[in-house]
Amino acid sequence: MKKKVHNFSAGPSILPDKVFKDASSAINNFNNLGLSILEISHRSKDFIEILDQSRSLALEISSLNKDEYSCLYLQGGASMQFLMTAFNFLNSNAAYINTGSWSTKAIKEAKLFGNVHEISSSEDQNFNYIPKSSIIKEDYDYLHITSNNTIFGTQFHSFPETNSPLIADMSSDIFSRKINFSKFDLIYAGAQKNLGPAGVTMVLIKKELLKRVQREVPSMLSYKVHIDKDSSFNTPPVFPIYCVFQNLKLIKNETLEVIGQNNRIKSGLIYDEIDRNKCFNGFAKIEDRSIMNATFNLNDGFDANLFNQICIENNISGINGHRSVGGYRASIYNALPINSVKILIDCMKEFETNYN
Ligand SMILES: *Cc1c(COP(=O)(O)O)cnc(C)c1O
Repeated sequence: MKKKVHNFSAGPSILPDKVFKDASSAINNFNNLGLSILEISHRSKDFIEILDQSRSLALEISSLNKDEYSCLYLQGGASMQFLMTAFNFLNSNAAYINTGSWSTKAIKEAKLFGNVHEISSSEDQNFNYIPKSSIIKEDYDYLHITSNNTIFGTQFHSFPETNSPLIADMSSDIFSRKINFSKFDLIYAGAQKNLGPAGVTMVLIKKELLKRVQREVPSMLSYKVHIDKDSSFNTPPVFPIYCVFQNLKLIKNETLEVIGQNNRIKSGLIYDEIDRNKCFNGFAKIEDRSIMNATFNLNDGFDANLFNQICIENNISGINGHRSVGGYRASIYNALPINSVKILIDCMKEFETNYN
């Protein structure tokens, strides 16, 4: 029996128990074939079925039309998408909203391919807010945003209005709430935050966008090649895709509406405690707080060692803040039970009683 740990890790992170069970059983005996999922061909009928269903399911959950959009499972993480989006689509001028470390890294890669216009940024306040974007009238090759800033705990609660194609890094909040996915021309997400294990990146791409490609792109970095080859140009990451598929089935059954409600409840409980408790203060601006990653700090004069000790005693894992922000970060992805949130809140309350 695994010891019961409350896992607030930012990523790789918690997944539903059922995904672990299905994954273990597929490692031992996939589809009753007498073979492990780890040793079958990616061209076998049984795996192709998983890949096809998983691609359709992602589009179905997003309410995206499969004639208009394609779902790909690629490798190289979200970090590979930083350069792949630019390699394919940055012909002259692209716009980026800089909301944190991941946006900054995306911008750095894009500059290798063309002019990058950082049209707004929250760097002036260590990225503790989302710049309020008005309507963006200029024509760009695309506008790139990071929908949820995993490190800083901020999140777009509405999206910029633009006539340019909209590209989003949704690594840490994909399928955490119901949004209008069709506003976006390309969405990418490293799986290891809210979807599955590390090793696969989901891409949802509007096929129209391919018409804009002007330069010659190496096959492995070409969206067109991956779409034409049904996401099997080379060996896809078979096992992570299998795990993501198991999770997508759960997400579809639960529905994004209900998942979003639960995430708002869980994050609301934590933020209420951060605001009430005299020992802590929230990092992100209130209106931009993320429902996935809650960042907070200890107020001056309170003993971090004592709080850490209380957390350890209660099997709280993974709440240290990222090194660029410090303090604490509770990542409350879909699979984190509300009970874990309540235990963390109890720890915060217990800590406070030491100062009464
Ligand atoms: C984790 C993360 C990344 C980096 O993902 P890799 O798969 O490690 O490349 C990029 N963007 C966001 C928003 C993230 O949370």
